[in-house]
Amino acid sequence: MKTGKTSLLFLYTGGTIGMVQDPVTGVLKPFGFDNILGEVPELKKFGYNLSSYAFDPPIDSSDMTPGVWIKMAEVIESNYDRFDGFIVLHGTDTMSYSASALSFMLENLQKPVIFTGSQLPLGSLRTDGKENLISSVEIAAAVKNDRPVIPEVGIFFENRLYRGNRTSKYNVEDFNAFISGNYPPLAESGVHIRYNYSAVRYPDKDLSLVVHKNLDTRIAILKLFPGMNQQVVEALAGAQGLRALVLETFGAGNAPGDPWFIRCMKEAVERGIVAVNITQCRIGSVSMGTYETGRRLADAGVITGLDMTLEAAVTKLMFLLGMHTDKKKIEAQMQKSLRGEITD
Ligand code: ASP
Repeated sequence: MKTGKTSLLFLYTGGTIGMVQDPVTGVLKPFGFDNILGEVPELKKFGYNLSSYAFDPPIDSSDMTPGVWIKMAEVIESNYDRFDGFIVLHGTDTMSYSASALSFMLENLQKPVIFTGSQLPLGSLRTDGKENLISSVEIAAAVKNDRPVIPEVGIFFENRLYRGNRTSKYNVEDFNAFISGNYPPLAESGVHIRYNYSAVRYPDKDLSLVVHKNLDTRIAILKLFPGMNQQVVEALAGAQGLRALVLETFGAGNAPGDPWFIRCMKEAVERGIVAVNITQCRIGSVSMGTYETGRRLADAGVITGLDMTLEAAVTKLMFLLGMHTDKKKIEAQMQKSLRGEITD
């Protein structure tokens, strides 16, 4: 058990935030993260114990894998008692997938795990990385009534802290890169950091952390579009080993009513595939009873993903498929909120 000064652990996985400009060549390259205090000396002013764990080699987050998520979960697990909070420095491209995955893997989390990164490298003059890093440190250290204010996996970016499993990266240009269309921010930073306490999940204090490390990746995503080709869709739904199919549907969960498409979904479900309906829209929920085009999917055995993001649905399936073989159990858990990823 730790005592005394606030202690935070940085997990540095890579991404733009960890780049500096080589003074000679001008090229952007990852810097040794042991030197974080050298790059952001402002952090010393907090007076916290700051330690770091650098993944080797640092990766562009497009190279992220479930194997790295397991490693992240293990680093958090083995350092859980020694630190008050964790800050994960990560590329923005797949940050929402990683934050979603970690939210499912870390059951009964009682401490902050704050993901952040930047659109411009720490070493560049107009970097957004410093602000993001400094605010993430403040959030990870925040305590009220002897409890961390944010015992959640969050993403801090620009001026907002979001629940990680509610986010998607939606902007390549802006410093404001993430959207949480179906859930309010957990905190907003301006002159002060203002916490939205009623939006934060506080687990029962007596529950201990359980780390789930078994992830099954036999999942496919089918994004619907007008003019889908029967042969291609049948090949995907019939892929060997497939256990779950995420359908990204139109609007409130609608799909074309072509008999071949509905038949293909029905046969997939009958073969034991978990088929989940997620909307292509960023805001709002699937409601398969609203239109005939949605109801037909429900009749074929496709289950609703309600207002889950695609990132949450995919990583939740990896987690549930890794834990259960019983399709009914997986389907039941997919439709209920486990970590605040669905609006109850
Ligand atoms: N491609 C980078 C990554 O995701 C972009 C970033 O860091 O923002 O690692």
